[in-house]
Amino acid sequence: MDCVFCKIVDGQIPSKIIYEDEELIAFDDLDPQAPIHFLVIPKKHIQSLETLDEADSELIGKIFLAIRKIAHDKGIADSGYRIVNNIGEDGGQTVPHMHFHVLGDRSLQWPPG
Ligand code: 5GP
Ligand code: ZN
Repeated sequence: MDCVFCKIVDGQIPSKIIYEDEELIAFDDLDPQAPIHFLVIPKKHIQSLETLDEADSELIGKIFLAIRKIAHDKGIADSGYRIVNNIGEDGGQTVPHMHFHVLGDRSLQWPPG
């Protein structure tokens, strides 16, 4: 499949993987928007939250728990961090493989642009 993130899962495109289990991987974003900026993705191709199957609902819980674990490991849990999921064109999604951005280690503004 011609999907950048599937290629990262397969190791065809190199990335700095910071967490991996049976169903998920997390890796540093290529174009970081904060001192800490990583992405958490399911290994299986799901285009976005909009195409998520009912049977995948547990996967979302696992993604959020993995995010919390990594945030603790990286030492940003106390100061705080942000989780972002872009969906579709207006949502600013550029890679059509569901991913959760995690940004931290700086004060983030709200609302975003
Ligand atoms: P989106 O705009 O779809 O929510 O976010 C896609 C993110 O993936 C962007 O922040 C972009 O920097 C990141 N990205 C795109 N291609 C690659 C890649 O090949 N490797 C890594 N590590 N990140 C990528
Ligand atoms: Zn994919």
